[in-house]
Amino acid sequence: MKILVTGGAGFIGSAVVRRAVGQGHAVVNLDALTYAACLDNVASVAGNPLYQFEHADIRDRATLDRIFASYQPDAVMHLAAESHVDRSIDGPADFIQTNINGTFNMLEAARQYWAEQGHPEGFRFHHISTDEVYGTLGETGLFTEDTPYDPRSPYSASKASSDHLVRVWGETYGLPVLVTNCSNNYGPYHFPEKLIPVVILRALAGDPIPIYGDGMNVRDWLYVEDHADALLCVLGRGAVGRTYNIGGENEATNIDLVRMICAELDVLRPDSMPHADLITFVTDRPGHDRRYAIDPTRIRAELGWRPSVTLQQGIAQTVRWYLDNEGWWQPLLARSGVGARLGQGVNI
Ligand code: NAD
Repeated sequence: MKILVTGGAGFIGSAVVRRAVGQGHAVVNLDALTYAACLDNVASVAGNPLYQFEHADIRDRATLDRIFASYQPDAVMHLAAESHVDRSIDGPADFIQTNINGTFNMLEAARQYWAEQGHPEGFRFHHISTDEVYGTLGETGLFTEDTPYDPRSPYSASKASSDHLVRVWGETYGLPVLVTNCSNNYGPYHFPEKLIPVVILRALAGDPIPIYGDGMNVRDWLYVEDHADALLCVLGRGAVGRTYNIGGENEATNIDLVRMICAELDVLRPDSMPHADLITFVTDRPGHDRRYAIDPTRIRAELGWRPSVTLQQGIAQTVRWYLDNEGWWQPLLARSGVGARLGQGVNI
């Protein structure tokens, strides 16, 4: 299959690109290379004849038309987005332009291309989204594919809008769409402004680890390689027009997660003080969702997909990866002003 992947220089997109090329698919990686991108994430496939890169912006419709016409993809996996909740609160405009208008451009470019090709049956437009569109849960319950949308940040509102557009392009124009909504990802190449890398890097530096509120917010964590595996599974075998929730059934409070990371670092860096002593609590952020948790029954029952690692295993692999790959994260800290943001509370 020839797959057009948008956002393939980002955290999850790069895992999809590496895995898709590894499975023998031809991949065109379309990415605007914003602050969140890093081409080192796809260095392992850069010389592979199956892989091509297009430096392009999904807000630019004419460029999208050119790319569709010249590469003639069999499928689209649309991951390009502004993705950081805290940044969406500080400055929502980019989130509206990229996540909503950019997705609209992708849909229109795909629809035109699909029509010009004579509506090939196998064509797929797979939109990658988040469980944050569902809002927040109380102490119990799980997000299913039928949970009503209730976004609570500019980021999740922009992703909710894009999900609606994608479904409507399926209903109204017959575009063969798939939507997936996934829980929080973690793993190698996670940009150092997100919770898990921040905790690892601050603990390594011996700096305070700031946690929003009481640390009891719950997230349902999924290892990024497992997400990439699930996405390719849905693209290959998912039913057209269907939505699949993707989650690892790995709920953890922020404070428990941070303690797990600190315990791993205590093993790997036993000469430092107990890393959990660095934890400090800071003022909560506005609209901070209390709990997210995914019911993955549909993807398990219909497609037989399951995650390959537990949270404990994935965290151990991730902590080791950051210890071994300072050459990857050090330049990102310097380049993007993330260092200055690390003093704030962190969450996703
Ligand atoms: P990321 O921020 O790491 O990567 C986003 C990529 O999109 C970057 O490479 C960036 O350069 C590119 N991009 C941004 N604006 C663009 C534009 N206008 N044109 C072209 N490229 C552009 O994000 P991520 O964490 O890898 O998330 C990828 C997708 O998965 C997003 O759609 C996000 O909503 C969704 N998602 C993320 C998570 C998570 O935990 N990170 C969970 C569920 C769903």
